[in-house]
Amino acid sequence: MPVAARRAGVVVVGGGLAGAMAAAHLARAGVPVVVCEQSVRPQPRVCGEFLSFEGAALLRDIGIDLPAAAPAIATVAVHGPHRTLVSRLPGGNVGVSRLWLDEALRQRAGELGASIHRGVTVQRIMPRPGSGALVQTSDGDWDAEAVVVATGKRDLRGVAARERVSDVVGVQLHVSVTPEVRVRLQGRVELWVGEGASGGAALVDGTTLNVSCVIAPAVARDPGLVASHLMPALMRRHTAAARVLAGIDWPETRMTAVAPVPYGYVRPEAPGPGIFCVGDQLAVIPSLTGDGMTIALASGREAGRLLASGWGKGWASARRDAGAAGGHWEADPGRAMRLAEASRQSHECMAQAFRRQLRVAVWLQRLFAQPRVLEGLLRAGVWLPPVVPLLMRATRVPHGLRAREARRAPAGSGRTIVP
Ligand SMILES: Cc1cc2nc3c(=O)[nH]c(=O)nc-3n(C[C@H](O)[C@H](O)[C@H](O)COP(=O)(O)OP(=O)(O)OC[C@H]3O[C@@H](n4cnc5c(N)ncnc54)[C@H](O)[C@@H]3O)c2cc1C
Repeated sequence: MPVAARRAGVVVVGGGLAGAMAAAHLARAGVPVVVCEQSVRPQPRVCGEFLSFEGAALLRDIGIDLPAAAPAIATVAVHGPHRTLVSRLPGGNVGVSRLWLDEALRQRAGELGASIHRGVTVQRIMPRPGSGALVQTSDGDWDAEAVVVATGKRDLRGVAARERVSDVVGVQLHVSVTPEVRVRLQGRVELWVGEGASGGAALVDGTTLNVSCVIAPAVARDPGLVASHLMPALMRRHTAAARVLAGIDWPETRMTAVAPVPYGYVRPEAPGPGIFCVGDQLAVIPSLTGDGMTIALASGREAGRLLASGWGKGWASARRDAGAAGGHWEADPGRAMRLAEASRQSHECMAQAFRRQLRVAVWLQRLFAQPRVLEGLLRAGVWLPPVVPLLMRATRVPHGLRAREARRAPAGSGRTIVP
């Protein structure tokens, strides 16, 4: 006999950075919220693990302090085939492991009153005509008044798939490094750029280096995804990668991989009334900017804020019952209309806010993929120091979506240094 769907205020699909951030803000505002996260324990993510100062401020705003061991990152080094440009970054950027960060954010959302369901995969959502959706999961169904879609690179049935604008594969690995390598990479995020592959490296604690790359499928096909095969093959192809990654002992471990990565995508409209997309489901910025995590956090926070204002009355009783997952909250005949309007507004505002930032980042990514143009740009960066700070500033999350403390800080105000 079919089991009736449980009632939920808001269901958040995916408890990564964007989903957990939305849930934390909703729970803090007293809205009853259930998070369905498919993983049971911390999982590695394909990410460079460079967290910008704007992202760190958004985390502090919700009550998360980064670990004292998270290394500060004061400079960025961009390596072309023959030339390297080093530029100072504004203070407050860090290297931080996603194994720690995603877990800390989920825990914070739980402390604030969100009901976190681990090991639950959402199979599809079926939008309702007024607001919200029937959410079908591996652990039964939820009848939700609103839904936040935060599944990252994975598309979800019931939500239109994003256009496949690029076919690249993203890979990532944590690797232990010797003290000599550590000293060389201390305080910097290293980016190497080349045809068919590019990548980044940053320390995330005292001994661990995070390495992430974006590779054309044809380049990955032959060596495969085992680090001891793939990384030496990339270093043979790219002199810049060989310079950055020299002295690393690559393990016989398969790298974490994700594909495709739809760089440049922005979702302009909500997939249904009362349905909010956040993080990579809303906007996917080329990784070289190191701003994807901040976009995920900022969009989770903004969707949470708009959704909470649409939720309206009944907050006090919702707060009391939030621990009961489904909860009991006051009926409100105008709520469906307000939530539908909030989801429309959320997509309109955020698509507009992120579009220019993504356009500049995609344009830069295309230029950087051509070795001759890249060498020219690196040379120009040396002679015209303001170029790098200007480009950096144009690829940061817009001021209006930042935490208050990061609004006045001048992104990319650093000086260019010739190494
Ligand atoms: C190569 C590469 C390097 C990058 N480097 C950086 C960097 O240095 N700095 C930076 O700021 N950004 C970087 N990014 C971008 C950043 O990693 C992403 O933008 C960010 O992780 C997006 O967060 P999210 O919450 O949207 O998705 P995710 O972090 O992917 O979270 C999605 C969550 O949803 C869960 N989920 C998925 N499907 C389901 C389902 N059906 N049911 C239940 N749960 C589900 C997953 O388990 C996961 O926990 C990089 C990206 C790439 C590809």
